[in-house]
Amino acid sequence: MIIIMLGAPGAGKGTIGKRLAVQLGITHLSSGDVFRALTKDNTKLGEEIKECINGGKLIPDKLAMQIFEDKIVKYNLEKGIILDGYPRTLMQAKHLDKLFKNMELKVDIAMNIDVEDQLIIDRIVNRRICSNSRCGEIYNLKYGKIPKVDGICDKCGENLIQRADDNEITVRDRLKIYDENTRPLLKYYNKRGVLWNVHSAEDTSIDDIVHQTMIHIEDMD
Ligand SMILES: [Zn+2]
Repeated sequence: MIIIMLGAPGAGKGTIGKRLAVQLGITHLSSGDVFRALTKDNTKLGEEIKECINGGKLIPDKLAMQIFEDKIVKYNLEKGIILDGYPRTLMQAKHLDKLFKNMELKVDIAMNIDVEDQLIIDRIVNRRICSNSRCGEIYNLKYGKIPKVDGICDKCGENLIQRADDNEITVRDRLKIYDENTRPLLKYYNKRGVLWNVHSAEDTSIDDIVHQTMIHIEDMD
């Protein structure tokens, strides 16, 4: 089962992808994790990636395709994989299809988590994280995990802070980049008959989405 996670930044694809990976017993490969790990190497590649991430830009196609090709061919994909954050452009999607074809595999599901922009913005600007780097617990002032005492971490008692990037202007920029680069993938995968669209509203729980998706997967067999 090869699954690609799609959805705007902040739609929750990381959380949902990880949950699905556990349920299906397959690997969850997140582009964020892959790229962040590379920035820790003191290499030219690491520097280049760091610049892109810090500048809020997408990793160039050529670079992303090379990195993921190297990663993917190393996995045993017999059971499958969940790709989260890759592919992010049409060029990357076509490259990935070719790669899978050479391995006699194909994308089974392109899962899109569809969330309204306003809800994404609202969730992100209300996000707070624990300032204690050893704790790092994530809260939200409006949705889900609300701190018991205003501004204080439930777990360790340290102050909660707002990440510099968690502001409306930055979020809107990221949504625009998503619309221009990644949204065209929905049409691409829909044409191939593998698009699985899940609408996530304010009151939709992650459990529900995971459950619906597991049923969808069972129905495919
Ligand atoms: Zn804490």
